[in-house]
Amino acid sequence: MATVERTLVLLKPDAVSRGLVGRVLQRFEDAGLKVVGTKMVQMDAELARKHYFDLEERFGKSVFDVTANFMKSGPVIALALEGVEAVANVRRIVGVTFPNQANPGTIRGDFAHTSKAYTEAKHSVAANLVHASGNVEEAKYEVELWFSESELFEYQTVAERFLF
Ligand code: ADP
Repeated sequence: MATVERTLVLLKPDAVSRGLVGRVLQRFEDAGLKVVGTKMVQMDAELARKHYFDLEERFGKSVFDVTANFMKSGPVIALALEGVEAVANVRRIVGVTFPNQANPGTIRGDFAHTSKAYTEAKHSVAANLVHASGNVEEAKYEVELWFSESELFEYQTVAERFLF
């Protein structure tokens, strides 16, 4: 059923260190998505394990290790975003995992270009700027993992008058 959802976005260390926070956030605001939570976080091993709890199972230990190390390499900006079918909408705005396959107009397609083949040959991470929850169940788990109740806000945006 189409509904208003909350989803988690992380602006990864490459987005923060490249000074892309404002431009990436702009994409979500432009689409009328509402920021209901935001903070800067230095991830530690425990948070990396909880956030990427199934990554090792899906892709093996080396992918988990390079990804966790990358995510801990500098601060990230966590965003809780709200909107109509926000989970799928945010994934659409972010683009697919490997930037060379992500469509122009998506965040990963516009601000990065690296490929799966290059990433795997180098045993490095897919530095793809943004994390976005993969489905509604994951979004619920991730928003609760990253934000306490008191860090999530309710207010009305002007866009809501027209969108919702
Ligand atoms: P997405 O972030 O698009 O939902 P996944 O959930 O499949 O992608 O993977 C989580 C993250 O792990 C990716 O965004 C990427 O940073 C990293 N990753 C995934 N697959 C690989 C890989 N084969 N090599 C290196 N890093 C990877």
